[in-house]
Amino acid sequence: MRKTIFCFWAALSLAAAAQPAPLDSAGVYDKLWVQTSADYRAHCLQTYGWATRSLRERASLEGRHDARGRLVETNNVQERPLAVIMDLDDTVIDMSVYRTFLHAMGRDFELETWNAFLDYQADHAEACRSVPGALEFIAEAEKLGYTVFFISNRTEETRPQTIRVLEKLGVNTRDLDKRMMLDAGSEEDARQARALMARLGIAESSREGQALLKAQSRKERRRLQVSLEYRPVALIGDDLGDFLSFVPEAGASPEKVMQARYQAVADERERLGRQYFILPNPMYGNWSPGGTLPKKGAAGYLRDDGFLDYYRRRGGK
Ligand SMILES: [Mg+2]
Repeated sequence: MRKTIFCFWAALSLAAAAQPAPLDSAGVYDKLWVQTSADYRAHCLQTYGWATRSLRERASLEGRHDARGRLVETNNVQERPLAVIMDLDDTVIDMSVYRTFLHAMGRDFELETWNAFLDYQADHAEACRSVPGALEFIAEAEKLGYTVFFISNRTEETRPQTIRVLEKLGVNTRDLDKRMMLDAGSEEDARQARALMARLGIAESSREGQALLKAQSRKERRRLQVSLEYRPVALIGDDLGDFLSFVPEAGASPEKVMQARYQAVADERERLGRQYFILPNPMYGNWSPGGTLPKKGAAGYLRDDGFLDYYRRRGGK
């Protein structure tokens, strides 16, 4: 009898192996990693630990504060205060719940659901979570005398909700109207980019000028704006766009954009872990379908290096 039962279960498991069904976990590993793993926390704490040590070292070298308590460089005649620039989403504020919602609904990012989530988050303390290490980092940076700026592509209309969430998290929101730079919309952004170019003597037709105008919805213009009065010494984000401005040529293939992004990382390697501190985000970003990769057929970019053919040739099922 025992033998019969064994054969029955063996046959059942063989049948299951012959017809692979999609795993229950398909498409949720990224969110599970962020929401449940100790490993994600370790990555974040590691990045924020490096950033904190870098700021402490710099503060001990520069070591002078102006009348407002801001850290300034002693060898800088203009005495620009030192600053830190941080992204918000999945750098300070944990937004993985919105991704869980999209997965449950089988939907992609849309402004309508995004704005609904921002409203919900602002009214529900249980949905206000911070990225591990972020709050301690901000508090330490401010204690040392750095001015902390937030540059986010959240729209200007969502400023009240964003402030409420930051308050709930215990982030210092004093002077946030100057320190939090959101997406003002393409027209206003272009106007501000032109004003900035006039001030800095950048010709609109120059490469830099064109990049500033083309990157209207991105963050480069706002980073430049901060650097007029401050010296940003650390940038913290979860996407390369939080550090660098990419302006791919019109119609450039995904392969070409990917190569340009790899090259940018190679070029900026010395700054990684010194001035640029990147947090993990496997859920979305400029790298993902709809960004660098096409929305349709993105799975075609997965590599198998010939293993699938090899496995079938040797009779694998
Ligand atoms: Mg982000």
